[in-house]
Amino acid sequence: MRISADRDRCIGAGMCALLASGVFDQDAGDGKVRVLDPALSPESYGLLQQAAQACPAEAITVLDEHA
Ligand code: SF4
Repeated sequence: MRISADRDRCIGAGMCALLASGVFDQDAGDGKVRVLDPALSPESYGLLQQAAQACPAEAITVLDEHA
C-alpha cells in the first residue's frame, strides 16, 4: 500500500496530521502536508482512507496495491 499527498492541492487544514500523525505532518514553513511514511502496512488502510476522506482539498491518495 502506498500513499501520496498533492502539495499543490493541500490547503493546510491539518485533518490528515490530526487523524494519522505518524503518517502525515505539516510543513513548519507553509503548513502544507508532508508524508512521513509513504509505504505502509495494510493495517493502516482504514485509518488512511478516513484521513483521505477528511481532507477538504481531496489531496490525499491511498493506493491499495493488493486490491
Ligand atoms: S487534510 Fe488535506 S488539506 Fe489538510 S493538511 Fe492534510 S492534505 Fe493538506
